[in-house]
Amino acid sequence: MDEKKLYSPRVMKDILDRYGFKFSKSLGQNFLIDGNIINKIADTAELDENSGVLEIGPGFGTLTQVLCGRAKKVVAVEVDKSLERVHKETLNYDNLKIIYNDFMKVDVNKLIEEEFGGLDVKIVANLPYYITTPIIMKILEERYKISKIVVMVQKEVAQRLNSAPGSKEYGAITLAVQYRADTNIAMIVPNSVFMPRPKVDSAVIEFNILKEPRIKVEDEVLLFNVIKASFGQRRKTLLNGLCNNLKLPKDTVKEALANAGMSPGIRGETLNLDEFGRIADELKKLI
Ligand code: SAM
Repeated sequence: MDEKKLYSPRVMKDILDRYGFKFSKSLGQNFLIDGNIINKIADTAELDENSGVLEIGPGFGTLTQVLCGRAKKVVAVEVDKSLERVHKETLNYDNLKIIYNDFMKVDVNKLIEEEFGGLDVKIVANLPYYITTPIIMKILEERYKISKIVVMVQKEVAQRLNSAPGSKEYGAITLAVQYRADTNIAMIVPNSVFMPRPKVDSAVIEFNILKEPRIKVEDEVLLFNVIKASFGQRRKTLLNGLCNNLKLPKDTVKEALANAGMSPGIRGETLNLDEFGRIADELKKLI
């Protein structure tokens, strides 16, 4: 799609006003108004006639327009039903389906199977910032058949995704991403490209999904639970974090940590993915 055909911010505003649309802060509604950035996001997604795109939160639909022009099929999930009337006017594409629902409630594996048979599926989104982490965790934990994720997130979240053990930013999501994907920050984006402007800058990150997870564990669900439990209570020892959050007896966790070669006083935020894998495998033998 030619960038010139994108709606200008003034026309976007006029259309939104005509339908009485009010931006919702709580739904993270900051719409993209810069054609260059929109095209760069689509470039990063590397779309062609074999691509299926799942977009989360199309909003007004400027990014959706470009995605529809480049991919074979686009399915967009939007929680705000008040945008439906806007979409009826602005998003008339034969290869687009919009589902009005909360992404967190969608059975995405089923959706991918039903809507994208045979296509190379990618997730592309300018994510609502209030729910970025739960959305990324859902995508990674539910193991969709996708090859790539390209998302706009807050700059700080991007830094968290690229952080090392022991640093302030390091968290459960860093490890969940490392487990499944290689990441690359495609660009840093100033707040001036959004309407309305958010307070912070953003970044576009691509996740290239690995063919096999980075480490092999006996029980993947347990690995994710161990990781989340370890970061649930920062400044607590790993022993307490695992006992409290996984509701496991202290002796069991102590034994698993010892078998994994770790002291009970260690803190979760200092461990790397291999070490979490070892703990999960030792726990699996005992519970
Ligand atoms: N893609 C548009 C763009 O780039 O201009 C809009 C991006 S805006 C940052 C986030 C969008 O996600 C909004 O349209 C908002 O209504 C939608 N949204 C918020 N929470 C959602 C959820 N739980 N499920 C689906 N969409 C959601």
